[in-house]
Amino acid sequence: MALEAYRKKRNFTDTPEPKGRKGRSGGNSFVIQKHDARQLHYDFRLEMDGVLKSWAVAKGPSLVPGEKRLAVHVEDHPLDYGTFEGTIPKGEYGGGTVIVWDRGSWTPIGDGAKGYAKGHLDFELHGEKLGGRWHLVRIAHKPREKRENWLLIKGDDEAARSERDPDILEERPESIATGREIKDVEG
Ligand code: MN
Repeated sequence: MALEAYRKKRNFTDTPEPKGRKGRSGGNSFVIQKHDARQLHYDFRLEMDGVLKSWAVAKGPSLVPGEKRLAVHVEDHPLDYGTFEGTIPKGEYGGGTVIVWDRGSWTPIGDGAKGYAKGHLDFELHGEKLGGRWHLVRIAHKPREKRENWLLIKGDDEAARSERDPDILEERPESIATGREIKDVEG
């Protein structure tokens, strides 16, 4: 069951998150959700095989090529999670506020399924805030670590920025869906 891990972690009588189900395969959406949980992070999600493959990026994406952002691989999420904005109650899994920070479509460079399986995914993003080429690369993990660590890295192209340019996370903190910031959604 594709979403078993997702459902096991959540109590759907208490959280407003969607229960969801596996969708049709063939779609290519992506979404990044800004999640003000115990620790602020950005959830990076790529649609593959009817689910959203997901990584939690503690520092968020960087447009500066060579800035490697740790992306912890987490459980697959249902496709309808991609439109979720709201507040998960304290005490529930992931308690805190979620906004849709960016969304659009993605295109694998080469074979996306193979790249994902072998831990090296090259792709383009077509979002409102993020574009151009990106890389997700799995790094070797120690036997006792339960979760896989990946790195999210911007490719060097016209969509890249230098360290002297504004940080996209500060420049565009708002939801792409509603224009709201975290503090406007927080209950
Ligand atoms: Mn999260």
